[in-house]
Amino acid sequence: MSLEGRRIEIRGTVQGVGFRPWIWRLARENGIGGRVSNDSRGVTIEAFGGNRALESFLDGIRASPLPAAEIRELLCETIPPELSHEFVIVASRRAGELQVSIPPDLATCEDCLAEIFDPADRRHRYAFTNCTRCGPRFTIAREVPYDRAATTMAPFRMCALCQAEFDDPANRRFHAQPNACPACGPAIEALSGSGEPAFWEDPIRGAALALRADLIVALKGLGGFHLACDATSSAAVERLRRRKHREEKPFAVMVRGIEEAEAVAQLSREERELLLSPERPIVLVRRRDGTALAPEVSPDNPLVGLLLPYTPLHHLLLSDAGRPLVMTSGNLSEEPIVCGNGEAVRRLASIADVFLVHDREIESRCDDSVARIVAGGPVLLRRSRGWVPRSIPVREPFEEPVLACGGHLKNTFCIGMGPCAYLGPHIGDLENLETLAVFEEAVERLERFLRVEPEIIAHDLHPQYVSTLYARDTRAGRKFAVQHHHAHVASAMAEHGLSGPVIGVAWDGTGYGPDGTAWGGELLLCRLESYERLATLRPVPLAGGETAIREPWRIALALLRDAFPEGLSLERLPLFARVDRRALELARQMLEAGVNVARARGVGRYFDGFGSLFLSRPFSRHEGQIALAWNVAADPEQQGSYPFRVDLAASPPELDLRPMLRGAVSDFLSGVSAGAISGRFHNTLATAAGALVRLAVERAGNLPVVLTGGCFQNALLAERVVSQVEQADGPRVFLHRRVPPGDGGLALGQAVVAGALARRPSE
Ligand code: ZN
Ligand code: ZN
Ligand code: FE
Repeated sequence: MSLEGRRIEIRGTVQGVGFRPWIWRLARENGIGGRVSNDSRGVTIEAFGGNRALESFLDGIRASPLPAAEIRELLCETIPPELSHEFVIVASRRAGELQVSIPPDLATCEDCLAEIFDPADRRHRYAFTNCTRCGPRFTIAREVPYDRAATTMAPFRMCALCQAEFDDPANRRFHAQPNACPACGPAIEALSGSGEPAFWEDPIRGAALALRADLIVALKGLGGFHLACDATSSAAVERLRRRKHREEKPFAVMVRGIEEAEAVAQLSREERELLLSPERPIVLVRRRDGTALAPEVSPDNPLVGLLLPYTPLHHLLLSDAGRPLVMTSGNLSEEPIVCGNGEAVRRLASIADVFLVHDREIESRCDDSVARIVAGGPVLLRRSRGWVPRSIPVREPFEEPVLACGGHLKNTFCIGMGPCAYLGPHIGDLENLETLAVFEEAVERLERFLRVEPEIIAHDLHPQYVSTLYARDTRAGRKFAVQHHHAHVASAMAEHGLSGPVIGVAWDGTGYGPDGTAWGGELLLCRLESYERLATLRPVPLAGGETAIREPWRIALALLRDAFPEGLSLERLPLFARVDRRALELARQMLEAGVNVARARGVGRYFDGFGSLFLSRPFSRHEGQIALAWNVAADPEQQGSYPFRVDLAASPPELDLRPMLRGAVSDFLSGVSAGAISGRFHNTLATAAGALVRLAVERAGNLPVVLTGGCFQNALLAERVVSQVEQADGPRVFLHRRVPPGDGGLALGQAVVAGALARRPSE
């Protein structure tokens, strides 16, 4: 047998996931000598052995069985052989071009879980148990490469036992950077509502008792604080709502395991898999009737967001409490999630009765991710913990690094670099300085991890968005303003590796158009660097502008006036009996005179208006509440639909939904249920989308179709549109999967558009 040598370079998520120890074992199994090292680009292996052994070693790597690892690229070249009998792991090198190789945070693995619940184990009930396959990563990382000294575990010195595990390549904790035990690692402490130490012997058990007594516990999780209460107690849930100033928006519920999830919700196989995935997102599922869950958890909503425990602390708390717990972000309404101990006591004292804190710092805020199953596959609605900072490969590499600043609501940002884009964590609504500070900090951190300072800056076209102001006033470089719906379509293109042109159906609530009006029912023919608007939605006049979004009865009124020019007696519609007479009269006058009226083209406004009208709900207590209520009211068995028109004389052509409203009002007045009307409403929109796409196909050919924008978080709508468009010989339809269809995915689209524009030779 002759000795040969190979250098193998691996890119992807290969650090902090137990990759090197696994390579070490694989090398030993195959009788390979050499070395493996981490560097800022990934993992490099130099392997020496016989040809057969090397081949089998390589096959083993390619088969990569590690759940959290992701091999994006594997380069192999022949190098001169070295006579080495040993295979060693060498220390990290800091060099070269950088890619973020820090993995996302990983849910507690089965092995660690067994230890926590084993009274004989030295980690029995230890809340910071982890190994190379699980535990905190992104949220504790301060620098790259990902090494203990560069994490918030640096102040904890490993005890002899932990160090021995850390140094033993055959151990599950070999180079597990956050490795810890009760003797040497972080510790849990309970504080009273005013922040004084509670001196409980077992803080977790104490907190569980408090929860069982209807108290509210603020607990320090992985990417921030959660507020928890007993999800089976109406009194506890109502107390939390009152204190958090969150009247009706659904709370997420953490259940102990998949059996408990099945007990409170109807789960499909896909939903079960999504709940159990190592990313552990909140999954929107259909709740069962008459379960132990308090109705106040998600009032008037057949859906509930469930998630499984993903840290040892959650497992212990859920097990001690013995019931499902509300687990909601530790913040006041839409503020950023709290992550420091002092900050928690300061900002959450008016909400929490007990604090469960610890002394490991959270370096990066990272909210729970939210997902649901649409058309048989998962769609991320909020991409954060578990996914950030995983890269998204793009088809056309970025020639220069790009920073995209995202939108206004549900903001995320994105850095594009080389062959990858990196979406940052969920920041929230950029409406105040506090959120802006969190945004800036998160941008700086990811820039540091990637060692870049992008000078190509992408932002929304809206001149007043905080993200636009940040891009314009505080960043240097070439700026590219990207239209909102163009960015939505480009985001879907990037996710699916489509180079364009594509037909984009971009339906959402609102996005700034170059004409200064609110777009949101757009049919676009898109390339990355440009778009053409093929059709839009007939605009709705919003009386009182933005107020109409909080008071959707105004939208209902405007839609009715538009659809019934001959007039319609409002007496017969119970909605208007719930509206103040003077406000109604004033809105009517405004619409009449066209004063203080904004024209809006968002499909989302139809959901608001129809929901308000047919559910007789004049007000929206949180963003999108009525639209969601109208969506979930739909009877999916409904096959009927309403007429609509496409006005080809308009420029661009306009989808005219007035005939739909006339049909729906006539149904309503003859006693048809709101559920049936909503079902027909969804079918009508789907048929209309199909008609619009056919229009685009006639113009531009059988191009791929992407469905994007917040409206496609609506599973029923998305599924119906897919089946309308994907008829025989129809074009192929792409839904968002790993990037949110809503504004949380906007930054990715901005980044690839700016990347494409920057590549063009300047004239
Ligand atoms: Zn583990
Ligand atoms: Zn230890
Ligand atoms: Fe949008």
